[in-house]
Amino acid sequence: MSAPTDVVALAINTPRRFYRGGERILAFRGIDAPAGHDDHRPEDWLASTTHLFAEGGGGLSALPDGRTLAAALEEDPNGWLGADHVTAHGTEPGILTKLLDAGERLPVHSHPDRAFAAAHLDCAHGKTEAWIVLGAEPGATVWLGFRDDLTKEALAALVDDQGDGLLAALNPLRVEAGDAILVPAGQPHAIGEGVFVLEIQEPTDLSVMLEHARFGLEEAHAFLGLPVERALESVDTRTLDGEARADLQRRWVDVRGHGSALSERADEFFRAEVLASADGAVEGDAGFGVAVCVAGSGTVTTEHGEAAHRVTRGDVLLTPHAAGRIRVDGGATLIRCRPAAVPTATSTPTDLPGNT
Ligand SMILES: [Zn+2]
Repeated sequence: MSAPTDVVALAINTPRRFYRGGERILAFRGIDAPAGHDDHRPEDWLASTTHLFAEGGGGLSALPDGRTLAAALEEDPNGWLGADHVTAHGTEPGILTKLLDAGERLPVHSHPDRAFAAAHLDCAHGKTEAWIVLGAEPGATVWLGFRDDLTKEALAALVDDQGDGLLAALNPLRVEAGDAILVPAGQPHAIGEGVFVLEIQEPTDLSVMLEHARFGLEEAHAFLGLPVERALESVDTRTLDGEARADLQRRWVDVRGHGSALSERADEFFRAEVLASADGAVEGDAGFGVAVCVAGSGTVTTEHGEAAHRVTRGDVLLTPHAAGRIRVDGGATLIRCRPAAVPTATSTPTDLPGNT
């Protein structure tokens, strides 16, 4: 079956996880709790072709016609992703997008990078991720990177202890709606209670759970089935200082019209484009993406679609490449999470800032 030539509305997809949360997702999406819902549905996996690493598998998104997105992609990868994407990146989107509602503080954890995942986990992707903060309780906090250099032995001792020392070793960052933070693979991090984010990441569920005991996680799950010492080699134990943190932080809410929500350091992994129509209509180019209406309401139309779609905060639309260009109007702000751009013939290293 060919990919649709218009946007596709996505229903929620909330696998059960080991930590609490989920109320903010239901409120944002404007829906009642479906049958079987409980207080451990803190993530809504949007347009997912990724399985959970543990916790019963699952995670794949379904389309309104009942097929999984993964199966639909196989039938028409060029239509969904665009021929250029398929040539450059293959027949998978290469991203995982989620809504995440931290009903309690998440454990301190980190994610392997591509090199580590390829060497030890038989996986081409690591997990660099980014948090696009949509809501936060007053004083809400996230933690990112070590405050001081740690030796491997010191890290191993903190992990062995499973006490409060791990969190205390990280940089705390106050967050509010409008913030956007890139979390490079290897950097230890935690999201605090009361933070609600749109998250974009490389398409894996590979986490090294440095803190695991208080969440009741098995060591095999916590360390990806690897020996602990091996798993800890994936953690960046160097100081993440203020300058480095600033390089990872942006304010998506300050984008007027069309622009990136994220630090340009995200570009090699994924994109998150803001389409803010408060000052007039904005357009985005054709391509696979997960467009989340994060503020206001308005309309979305596509180049090859039939109708204008009314959108309001909390709506989630999948944009197939075959739909062509997308136009947002009427005051709505969308953030469209997309795969990394396809390199063009003109983007030689001399074009990069800093090399001129
Ligand atoms: Zn993470």
